[in-house]
Amino acid sequence: MITSATDPQPADFADVRATNLAVVLRSVREHAPCSRADIALSTGLNKATVSSLVADLIDRRLVRETGLTENRVGRPATMLVLDGSPYAAIGVEINVDHVIAVAVDLSGERLLSWRRSFPGATSTAAQAVAAVAAIVRRVVNRMAREERQVLGLAVGVPGLVGTDGTVRVAPDLGWRDADVCGDLTKALRDPGFPVRVDNDANLAALAEHRFGPRAGTANLVYLTGEIGVGAGVVLDGRLRRGGQGYVGEIGHIQLDPLGAECRCGRLGCLEAVAGIGAVLEHPALSPAEVEIELDEVVRLARAADSRTLSTLATVGHNLGKGVAMIANLLNPEVVILGGYYVPLAPWLLPAVEAELRGRTIAPDAGGCQVVASTLGYGAAALGGAAQVLDSVDSSRLPRVS
Ligand SMILES: [Zn+2]
Repeated sequence: MITSATDPQPADFADVRATNLAVVLRSVREHAPCSRADIALSTGLNKATVSSLVADLIDRRLVRETGLTENRVGRPATMLVLDGSPYAAIGVEINVDHVIAVAVDLSGERLLSWRRSFPGATSTAAQAVAAVAAIVRRVVNRMAREERQVLGLAVGVPGLVGTDGTVRVAPDLGWRDADVCGDLTKALRDPGFPVRVDNDANLAALAEHRFGPRAGTANLVYLTGEIGVGAGVVLDGRLRRGGQGYVGEIGHIQLDPLGAECRCGRLGCLEAVAGIGAVLEHPALSPAEVEIELDEVVRLARAADSRTLSTLATVGHNLGKGVAMIANLLNPEVVILGGYYVPLAPWLLPAVEAELRGRTIAPDAGGCQVVASTLGYGAAALGGAAQVLDSVDSSRLPRVS
């Protein structure tokens, strides 16, 4: 059935059409360059419906025809690719000492990536909201100058974020019950695009799932290696949030009842025995000092300094115990180590692997691999943009402007 988009339609029909548009858009994203016939084949929609949906997507400049054709039996088929250049998705992450903003277009092309220092650890939530609003306004202005429509904004915060965007607890930032999403929407004066706030590990997992070398892996866990350690969990192709949105607080699983005291006051949490604090000589440092000391640890490890190697092995074994718990519980295909773990990965991974193999009940650790992230700093910001694109893919398509 073909109808014009301007015909009056019952709501449920419009919903079906929106869903089918998203299905076709996803198909182009996965298979481009592809023909209308390819889309019909991969989606199961009939060819007339696909033609109508593709026409709509071309109108919205989400998809475009390439000059290329592919000769098949019969007549040549015009090939389609994602367009999306008139649109932008914005992601921001708030951290203990900086704010990062990233914008990508609909096809995932990076449009900008800005890092600003910001004293997150000593600022109130209100001050952070003002800082984020300021940087977002500049991003939005830039996008407007480039004639791009902003599809949405998602902000990553290191802490427990409720499903309504309220930050319940952010220990590194010292916040409690801060309505960051509501306040940011107000500060941006109702910007005309959706604003969301999410846990930083969740967003980093989405970044890996969409943009990383293991993109598309249906079962993936991302472990942040910041001052705190949290996990973002993608299972069966979807980010998992749990009852109130608090999935993945692996940092406070007790690995050693007699272990070092954690920032949460308990003993031997994973974060305390396998976090960056367990690697450094002087754990309670400012973030800038952490980076300097981390460089020194890497230098000593490269020089095969025995004390450094032994510390890294211990931390690696502890981290491996945590990864084995994840593997036993969730059976991921890959666990990705982010943040400060990345530069330390060459020395941590052998011990992590050994613990993983030794402690999982499934043969071959259930197929679980452990790798270091290659997305670099700002993975959560990139994941914010990924979350916006995910919501477009699942039928929140932009209107024709
Ligand atoms: Zn703890």
